[in-house]
Amino acid sequence: MSTFALRPRRCLACGVSSEREVAVSLNGERRPDLRAAILDGSFQRYPCPSCGAPCRVQDPFVYLHFARKEWITCFSPEREPDWARLECEPMEDWREGMVTFAPPLVRDLSAGFRVRAVFGVDALREKLLCFEHGLDDAWLELLKLQLHRERADLTFSPRQRLRLYAVESDTLWFGVTGANRTLGVAREALLALQEDPIAWLTPMEHLTRGPYVDLGRIMFAPESAPQEQATA
Ligand SMILES: [Zn+2]
Repeated sequence: MSTFALRPRRCLACGVSSEREVAVSLNGERRPDLRAAILDGSFQRYPCPSCGAPCRVQDPFVYLHFARKEWITCFSPEREPDWARLECEPMEDWREGMVTFAPPLVRDLSAGFRVRAVFGVDALREKLLCFEHGLDDAWLELLKLQLHRERADLTFSPRQRLRLYAVESDTLWFGVTGANRTLGVAREALLALQEDPIAWLTPMEHLTRGPYVDLGRIMFAPESAPQEQATA
């Protein structure tokens, strides 16, 4: 089941508030239209009814898809620096919903679920794309880390993030947030990385400690990050 709530939203351009129906929980299996909207970038975007300025709802919600075994809590992007405290929420919710208090039928389905914490709808889209196309999301983060290390035009900063927005047979397409541009990367680059897992052992271990599988683990917590990988 999907649930929605009416909430006042204030337009950042003109300051006028209007009531919007926003997702609280979303079942991607039963609402393929909203899943498609997340994937095409139109999810919860609307023109301000007063001035027409483009607005976007980034309120937190839980995204579920039982057939695809996806349980993803999407937090507001501005809460990302607090990821270490928040990332346990989806795992606790998943355990309560599908194991601890679940009937045997549901418990049987719980194996193999991908439980994730993401910040912002663009980060949710990235996870959905990864899982749909059989890409390992942790390896995708390591590919981004390599791109940050190799390319002078990318800054390793929370303000400049690579977010996967499309997958073609030979190319992975990233949007560069904060720079308003895109970057196409050969899919082979991801396969090449995966051929040398030993070289990536330390950052991989760091990225997969919890449901927040994202370079933000390194960007927002430098004191506990594998420094040599982040700055090399
Ligand atoms: Zn407005």
